[in-house]
Amino acid sequence: MRTETIALHAGYQADAPINAVAVPIYQTVAYEFDSAEHAAALFNLEAEGYRYSRISNPTTAVLERRLAALEGGVGALCVASGQAAVQNALLCLANPGRNIVSVPQLYGTTHTLFTHVLPRMGLHVRLAETDQPEEIGRLIDADTMAVYCESVGNPAGNVCDIAALAEVAHARGVPLMVDNTVASPVLLRPIEFGADIVIHSLTKFLGGHGTTLGGAIVDGGRFPWHDHAARFPMLNEPDASYHGLVYAEHFGPTAYIERCRNFCLRTTGAALAPLSAFLLLQGVETVALRVERHVHNARRVAEALRRDSRVAWVNYAGFPESPYYDLVRKYQGGQACSLLTFGVRGGVAGGIAFYNALRLVKRLVNLGDAKSLACHPASTTHRQMTAEEQRKAGVTPEMIRLSVGVEHVEDILADLDQALAAAARQT
Ligand SMILES: *Cc1c(COP(=O)(O)O)cnc(C)c1O
Repeated sequence: MRTETIALHAGYQADAPINAVAVPIYQTVAYEFDSAEHAAALFNLEAEGYRYSRISNPTTAVLERRLAALEGGVGALCVASGQAAVQNALLCLANPGRNIVSVPQLYGTTHTLFTHVLPRMGLHVRLAETDQPEEIGRLIDADTMAVYCESVGNPAGNVCDIAALAEVAHARGVPLMVDNTVASPVLLRPIEFGADIVIHSLTKFLGGHGTTLGGAIVDGGRFPWHDHAARFPMLNEPDASYHGLVYAEHFGPTAYIERCRNFCLRTTGAALAPLSAFLLLQGVETVALRVERHVHNARRVAEALRRDSRVAWVNYAGFPESPYYDLVRKYQGGQACSLLTFGVRGGVAGGIAFYNALRLVKRLVNLGDAKSLACHPASTTHRQMTAEEQRKAGVTPEMIRLSVGVEHVEDILADLDQALAAAARQT
């Protein structure tokens, strides 16, 4: 099936005799056992079923199966937020003294996690100077557990060459982990191009309405963990926290995602609420339709800004002069994302005057809402970084980031026009 159909149907079959067409909300913490033996089989991960909603829940499981189908993976794990997804995905591979290698164009909080939190837990992050595969390859060593990138960087808008990154990682026995939040599986499915693990903030396009936090980890199921037993002891050696279970033997292709669930989520506790899973499923149903309109509106906005003499520069990967134009054609069928950045003439003062004059477009830090949103990364999402770190992450002081919504495009353009006029009057 194609994306539009998967988004509506995958992972749910109505149960007789009720046959509810909408996914039921299983607002329960626990599940009754038939017997002590049944409970033991569940706790041994031998029987299929539910134990406790911190680990799994039937409503959340529908969302997990649907996301796995959308991304072409073998399994998925939903958690409380995108940030919990990033953390749990890496915790699963963390061992003191090991490292991950990452591109520098990262979401602000992911950058903070990488530079200030994970190193305190013994997992060091080697941030490359650029997103170029040769440079990433040079940073990988015997202790590297993963290569990390955002398929489309937030807010830099860089498009990573996923197939080339997968090649340099796989040549050295390392999996590629891709945060696919900005592109969404509608525009790009990283697993098809060699990625091993895909991460999402469901808060953004997949939920799509700015109501609900959520995150997901999708396992591509193809990385040969058992061929790299020395590098990945956590999947190949008996797990003392699970009375000697060997994940790669017990689960085969779903070893990684099962360890994320039964080792990481079980102990970190960042579970997604069943009601949130239901709300996110409502968003997922229409994600393909919405992204189509987001992309269409963003192109119109990018073109209008580029023509406007009050605008100094526009960074939009759909322009032929963009360094990412060819990668957008290769990975996204030529459809650039609806996240774009630009600079107003008049530098930081001009940018702030423009930002403060917006009326329809909302001033906030989020993206992928049906509504158009604007943010000033240097003072918000990327504020904790040094100026040099901001530059590497693709953030400049005057930069405005737009997440173009699905309103009528003429109304969006009219708001941008009046805000640019206000900025021009003030500077
Ligand atoms: C928003 C975002 C996150 C974090 O997601 P939350 O749901 O806000 O925790 C991670 N990565 C990217 C690329 C994001 O845009």
